[in-house]
Amino acid sequence: MLNIALFGPPGAGKGTQSEILAKEFNLFYISTGDLLRKELAADTRLGREAKEIIAAGGLVSDEIIVQIIEKTITEHPNADGFLFDGFPRTYVQCYIMEGLMLKLNASLDCLISLEVDEEVSVERLLSRGKSSGRLDDNETVIRNRLKEYAEKTLPVLDFYRERGVYRPVDGNRSVEAITDDLRAILREQQAKHLFNVVIFGYPGSGRSTQASALAKSFGLEYIATGAMLDEEIKKGSALGKRVQNMYETGQLVSDEIVVPLIERRLKSARGVRGFIFTGFPRTLVQSYILDGLLQKHGSRISRVVELEVPSLELIERLDKRRSTEHCRPYDSTTTRIVNRLKEHEEKTVMVIDKYKQQHGFIKVNGLGTPEEVFNRLVDALKPGASQV
Ligand code: AMP
Repeated sequence: MLNIALFGPPGAGKGTQSEILAKEFNLFYISTGDLLRKELAADTRLGREAKEIIAAGGLVSDEIIVQIIEKTITEHPNADGFLFDGFPRTYVQCYIMEGLMLKLNASLDCLISLEVDEEVSVERLLSRGKSSGRLDDNETVIRNRLKEYAEKTLPVLDFYRERGVYRPVDGNRSVEAITDDLRAILREQQAKHLFNVVIFGYPGSGRSTQASALAKSFGLEYIATGAMLDEEIKKGSALGKRVQNMYETGQLVSDEIVVPLIERRLKSARGVRGFIFTGFPRTLVQSYILDGLLQKHGSRISRVVELEVPSLELIERLDKRRSTEHCRPYDSTTTRIVNRLKEHEEKTVMVIDKYKQQHGFIKVNGLGTPEEVFNRLVDALKPGASQV
């Protein structure tokens, strides 16, 4: 869940930017000003209470603000996150925000402050006043809103500066330039929340079948290095030709080839909740590379799972696959099958040991129907699943 507050004086462009960002990042937009204006228009009890204060450019009471925000949050329990505009507006409201976040079992990821010169604000608000129809977009009220802002709202920045989540952005520039900066901050924050899973298992354990099913069901992007290399070969790219040559001469595909391909996928993924990896990392070196790749992306591994299948069952499965259309080049002879199992034993088991110590590790029984195994995996990926 991604929770962001967009902060700034009246006329900073919070509404304009929020509209773009909420859509792009699938966040639920909460503007306390808009919510209050709705109450006003519907002539509700809350609206009537707030009317005079808004018209004078003052700040509405915390009682009213808490009621309208709480109502909106509870009405949208499945939101991917919230984008707050106009809240928190006082130092006390920062504590209210903390409490509301606690209720959501989340925290405010950052407060982005659009920093705008006073005269720029006034000019923008006066020009908005010509068409907005808002009671409070006239010069006397604008000056009062800015006074309230300087006295009561600016201290909010100290609260978030202290919490280390205050992010200033120069708001005197064009809408597009500001959006670019905000987008970069939101992407960075989003990366922190990615759910990244690594699935281990011997060849024949059902890794790829399960990983693609999990990817679909959890909204994750499935990164299978083997399939990515096959795709390059199919495309006939220069890189594909090098890979083919390596396959033919029996060499392992080098990290120099695999790593940029993974990085490209990490960078180009949009709107995913995380990544799921099989076939990488395969060696201890690759496990450090994956940590580094995710770190550079502002993220980290969330879960490591191993599908456990006894050796005899693996050999039986791979041997059966050999005579089907799913036969892979490396299934073609018993020697090849045994070599693959050996390679896994020699190289990948060391990686698994490293993860056991570092990231928390879950073993899942890989026997049974694909559905049975899938359900076990889903349980293993739940928060708090018991680790080895
Ligand atoms: P805005 O649309 O954010 O400029 O808000 C318009 C008016 O609504 C403000 O001038 C205040 O009177 C009131 N208001 C909006 N948000 C809050 C808040 N968090 N606390 C108190 N008053 C608010």
